[in-house]
Amino acid sequence: MTNRIPLMAGNWKMNLDHLEANHLVQGLALALGDAGHDYAKCEVVVIPPFTDIRTVQTIVDADELGIKYGAQDVSVHDNGAYTGEISTAMLTKLGVSYVVMGHSERREYHGESDALVGAKARKVLDAGMTPILCCGEALEVRKAGTHVEFVLAQVRAALEGWSGQDVAKIVIAYEPIWAIGTGETATAEDAQEVCGAIREALRADYGDATAEAVRVLYGGSAKPDNIKELMAQPDVDGALIGGASLKAESFAAMAGFY
Ligand code: PGA
Repeated sequence: MTNRIPLMAGNWKMNLDHLEANHLVQGLALALGDAGHDYAKCEVVVIPPFTDIRTVQTIVDADELGIKYGAQDVSVHDNGAYTGEISTAMLTKLGVSYVVMGHSERREYHGESDALVGAKARKVLDAGMTPILCCGEALEVRKAGTHVEFVLAQVRAALEGWSGQDVAKIVIAYEPIWAIGTGETATAEDAQEVCGAIREALRADYGDATAEAVRVLYGGSAKPDNIKELMAQPDVDGALIGGASLKAESFAAMAGFY
């Protein structure tokens, strides 16, 4: 029914310096090479801190690796007096193909709103890169049983005014906050419930073609042990992986889940 290519994206967060980044990407490339990884069957993306992007680019380019790389955030501005910010043009120059926005850690520690997250996604798409739009509920919302509505409202608010054609080009990552970095993974059924609801909302808002094109990832303590079960769900198209992406062996094992 679908020809969505699975996507395994490793969000390094604020981890790994230049030397460690070098080591991890080389280790990942070698592990995937040894396993005969077919990048056409499962895309592999590393998302390092800004300061490691050049390092990753050099290794990927030099060896013409199939690994792609992304950034963890971006500015909504083109250039100018925005101290500490990084623009889409700076990222495209470095060969970045994916950009994460709206991660719960940025929403929580930097007060990012749905409107800002949506503006970032727009900027990234206009620059020719792929947005990975994060959404997900806190534990209280889950306990109240309103998680599906909450997540759909986040996605709809960020994408307000978008055409179905543009929405079709993005990736959405469902990351329940209570499962991030806690070791507590949502069950495969929990992941499917929300990822499926996201797809059905896209279908209602934009039609079949858009709903079937968008890749929906699960994130939150995804690891080699649970990736198979998660990927067996019809609406889970990949994972946004934090902790388990910091070790070449575990990340490579997850990319080779099939
Ligand atoms: P985790 O992080 O895999 O370490 O839970 C996921 C994320 O926040 O993207």
